[in-house]
Amino acid sequence: MKKILFLLLIPFFGFSQNIDDLFSEKGEIYFSFEYINKSQLNQISDVVSIDHKTNSELAYAYANKKEFSEFLKLDIDYKIIKKEPKKFSTINKSSWNYYPTYQEYVDMMTAFADSFPDICKLHHLGTLNSGREILIVQISNNVGKKENEPSFLYTSSMHGDELAGYILSLRLINHILNGYGNNARLTDLVNNIDIWINPLANPDGAYNGGNQDVWSATRYNANWVDLNRNYPDPEDGQHPDGNSWQDETEIFMGLADSINFTISANMHGGVEVCNYPWDTWSTLAADDNWWQYVSNEYADSCQANSGNGYFNYLNDGITNGYDWYEVDGGRQDYMNYFRYCREFTLELSDDKTPNPNDLPDLWDANYPSLLNYMEQSLFGLRGIITDSITGNPLKTKVEITGHDIDSSHVYSNLPIGNYHRYVYQGNYNVTFSKSGYHSKTLNVSVLNNTTTIEDVQLVPLNFVGIENKNVNQKIINSIDILGRKNNTEKNKLLFNIFEDGKIERKIIFE
Ligand SMILES: [Zn+2]
Repeated sequence: MKKILFLLLIPFFGFSQNIDDLFSEKGEIYFSFEYINKSQLNQISDVVSIDHKTNSELAYAYANKKEFSEFLKLDIDYKIIKKEPKKFSTINKSSWNYYPTYQEYVDMMTAFADSFPDICKLHHLGTLNSGREILIVQISNNVGKKENEPSFLYTSSMHGDELAGYILSLRLINHILNGYGNNARLTDLVNNIDIWINPLANPDGAYNGGNQDVWSATRYNANWVDLNRNYPDPEDGQHPDGNSWQDETEIFMGLADSINFTISANMHGGVEVCNYPWDTWSTLAADDNWWQYVSNEYADSCQANSGNGYFNYLNDGITNGYDWYEVDGGRQDYMNYFRYCREFTLELSDDKTPNPNDLPDLWDANYPSLLNYMEQSLFGLRGIITDSITGNPLKTKVEITGHDIDSSHVYSNLPIGNYHRYVYQGNYNVTFSKSGYHSKTLNVSVLNNTTTIEDVQLVPLNFVGIENKNVNQKIINSIDILGRKNNTEKNKLLFNIFEDGKIERKIIFE
C-alpha cells in the first residue's frame, strides 16, 4: 500500500483500511477537493470544516476522523495535503519577528498589567484541561470601572494554526500601553473606549506540538473540534456541529454575556480579506452598507500601508461571508445575532503561520487599520437612556424603524444606560422602548466617522403626578408627558419635580 504523500490523490475505493493511518499522528487532516457549485459546497460544509483558502475552483477543508468518515460517504475525489513542519530561527525579539513560547506569552500578558496597572488589567478567563489558559487584557483609563464607553473586543487565533493575529494582538497591546500619554490618538482611544484584547483563543491548537513552539499548530482544539463551528447559530440551532460546547466556547460565551461588547473583530488567516456578516445565510445584514464601509476602510488602509498585492483578495479585500462560503456555528454570526455586537472576521495572511520575518511587515500594514476599526466604536448614534422621573439608567431596546432585521437592533446597557448604534450615514427613525414605559421615537441624522449623541428619557406608564401643596421646595426638574425636559410647548401636561421628590402636575394652557 502506498504511503500518503503530499498532494497525492487518494481514491475513495479501498480507503476504509487507511482512515486510522490518516489520523494516527494528529486528530485532524487537511485536504482539497473540486466542487460543482455553491450549493454542493454548502452541503459539504455541514460535514467538514471548509477552509478560508477555498476559492472558485478548489475547496480546502479540515476534518477530524468522524467528519472525514461522513465526507467519504459523499464519494468525492480529494487530495490529502500534508503540512510540512516549519522551523524558523528567532532573530530579534525587539522587532517582534518571532512567536513566543507558551510561557513567554503568559509572562508577556502578565507584564502588560504589571507595568501599566492604571490602564491595564489581566483577566484569567479560564483554564483548559491541558492547564493552558484563555487570557485577555482590558485597557482603559479607570480600567475595570463601568463608564459611558463602548466595549471593544479583538480576539485572535481560535483556529490554532492561524497565528498572524496572535503576534499582531500582542504587539497592539504593547503599542497602545506605551503610547498612552505620549501619543494623542492612542491616549484618546484609551480614555474613551473599554478595550479588550485576547491574542490567543485556542492555545491548545497553537501549542499542539508542545509549549516550546507553534510549528505543529492545529486548527482544531485538543478535542479535535473546530471552535469556529461550535457556537449557537441563528439558523442551525444551539449545536450546529453536533458537538457539545467546548470549554473555549463556554469561556467566550461567558465573557460575551458579562461584557456587552458593541463592536469586535475575530482574527484568522489563510487569505487576506475582511469577511462581514452573515456567514450562515444569504440574507444581507440590515447594516450591509455600514459593513462594506468599515471593511473597505480596513482593506484600503492595509493596501496603502503595504507593498502591492496585500489584502486584495475577493472584492478588493472584502467579502460577504455567505457569498464566499457558508459557515454554520461561527462566532461572527453568534456575536451579531445573539449578543447584538458588530463583529467581522479578519483574514490577515495568506500563510496561516507566517514566516516570523514577515510579521513586522504585517504589523506595518495592519496597525493603522486596527486602530481605525477600534475608533469606529466611538462613531454612529449613541447616548444614555434614563427613567424621566428618577433619572435611573435603563436597559432599553433601540430599534431603527423599517431598517432593523435579524437582531440588528441593540440595547442600552446597565449600569450606565449607554447604547451604541453603528449605522451607515443617513436619516433614521429610532424607537427607544421598554416594557412599563412610554416608547419614544426620534428622527436622527447620522454621518460616517462622526458621533451623534441622543440622550433619551422614558416616562413610566404608571406614572401619576402628585399635587404638591408645599411649594417652598425648589423645582429640580420639569418634564412633559413625553419626557421632554423643560418643554415650552403650550397645552401640555407638565410635571415639576421638587427637591423632596414630590411632583406637581400642571396643565399649561395658552
Ligand atoms: Zn480561521
